[in-house]
Amino acid sequence: MISLKEILSIKKLNVFDFDGTLVNTDSKVYVTHSNATKSKLDADEFNKYKTKSGDKFDYSEFFDLDYLINPKLIKSVFNKFKNSIRDKKSKTIILTNRKNTIGIRNYFNKKLKLSGFDIIGTGIPNPSGKYNILKSMIEKYGFNHIEIYDDSSSNLNVLKKLENVIPNITINVHKV
Ligand SMILES: [Mg+2]
Repeated sequence: MISLKEILSIKKLNVFDFDGTLVNTDSKVYVTHSNATKSKLDADEFNKYKTKSGDKFDYSEFFDLDYLINPKLIKSVFNKFKNSIRDKKSKTIILTNRKNTIGIRNYFNKKLKLSGFDIIGTGIPNPSGKYNILKSMIEKYGFNHIEIYDDSSSNLNVLKKLENVIPNITINVHKV
């Protein structure tokens, strides 16, 4: 049985990734390979892409644009997100590797008329950016129960490791 004291001491944080988790867009990562051929990868393909020696990446459609290219909501996760921002007992954030978050902000605040959450862009195209942001948020605000929704297994695997680094926290990860 969980005691009332324990229930009252729960500080809950719900973390939602953006691309491929809440929304799909037509943004691409452009890769120039060492033999000068080029590829373009959508968010899902980029998550699974194994970098080859000499690859050069152009992230401008994720890092620089202040609008979203053809956004489409992922309904099942979006419903969880809406429930989360209505829940006064937990804090909700969108944590994305995008650098410029103006497009996300305008889409959620202005177009969908939603508020009550923060948007944090790491500007780092690998899990370490999210790891460092989440670690400092947990340490600063004392969150001890964290739910993470992400379409990237490598993000989830890395973020789950915070359980081994910060005492007395629970992190539940949800692969989208
Ligand atoms: Mg994603």
